[in-house]
Amino acid sequence: MAAYLTQEIPSNYGAATIIKPHSRGQQSGEEKVEKMPLHAEDIRPEMREDIHDPSYQDEEGPPPKLEYVWRNIILMVLLHVGALYGITLVPSCKLYTCLLGIVYNVVAALGITAGAHRLWSHRTYKARLPLRLFLIMANTMAFQNDVYEWARDHRIHHKFTETHADPHDSRRGFFFSHVGWLLVRKHPAVKEKGGKLDMSDLKAEKLVMFQRRYYKPAAVLICIVLPTLAPWYFWGETFQHSVCIATFLRYAIVLNATWLVNSAAHLYGYRPYDRNIGARENVLVSVASFGEGFHNYHHAFPYDYSVSEYRWHINFTTFFIDCMAALGLAYDRKRVSKAAVLARIKRTGDGSHKSS
Ligand SMILES: [Zn+2]
Ligand SMILES: [Zn+2]
Repeated sequence: MAAYLTQEIPSNYGAATIIKPHSRGQQSGEEKVEKMPLHAEDIRPEMREDIHDPSYQDEEGPPPKLEYVWRNIILMVLLHVGALYGITLVPSCKLYTCLLGIVYNVVAALGITAGAHRLWSHRTYKARLPLRLFLIMANTMAFQNDVYEWARDHRIHHKFTETHADPHDSRRGFFFSHVGWLLVRKHPAVKEKGGKLDMSDLKAEKLVMFQRRYYKPAAVLICIVLPTLAPWYFWGETFQHSVCIATFLRYAIVLNATWLVNSAAHLYGYRPYDRNIGARENVLVSVASFGEGFHNYHHAFPYDYSVSEYRWHINFTTFFIDCMAALGLAYDRKRVSKAAVLARIKRTGDGSHKSS
């Protein structure tokens, strides 16, 4: 079962006045106002680095000059040209090649959503060794930087969202927040703030550090070489079909599905939980990214393992984590109480939630 725990809030967490929602039987129009601690539902005493820090302000002055990373630009162009060509080859590819692409896609996506994101960046649940082994392997298949680097970029994205210290600051437009940020050198504020983040939990996790040590050769082997050679070697697929469909097309799909969370889910959609932040609820992104598009909720409550007010609604990753919990491999799933969600909707929502 999910942990609906209450826990003492550290004294360094300020108190905010919030309006408690009416209980069902309450008839009078008077509102009961009481002092409640900020992040009352945050039940991860060991993790604070993904909580939004509104005190950070951008420094004044002209934006720094863009420094292109030509190696990444060339690789991304080649990958996407290959993927587009791969689409034209799909009708003539062998069934097993398509199946391999789909299975690889699902496993690699879980390595990002259930692994790098919900487990390692946000610590929203705990996983036993067999599940962590699966997720680190799946994450390496996705080839989106190692878990340590992914989590560091993601924690500062939450902490300093929509400032210069946000690695994919969506104020710089769709293209920059989607992929452009990977094609230029990081803003100095990202480097400065990223260097100061507390990453001690990941530094102490041997599996994460092991992946980091061997990441590049392992990712090239598992994400590029194996899926290119396997269809050609095992079931006689042409090399062209193998490389363009099982590798380029499949890799480009997972990359773009992940990037949509940073671009589309920060630009298009309602903000029922917090109208003051850029992140939005975007159903299409949830479909593409296995449940990561409930992004306004996620930024409001980054400690919820479902990253959504709901559980299995357009959320394959939550279904997967719940299946792992049923097998005893996942536990201590953090969940925000309904009362806290309703209070937040009332306090900061944009009025689009059905309860509003
Ligand atoms: Zn997140
Ligand atoms: Zn975000």
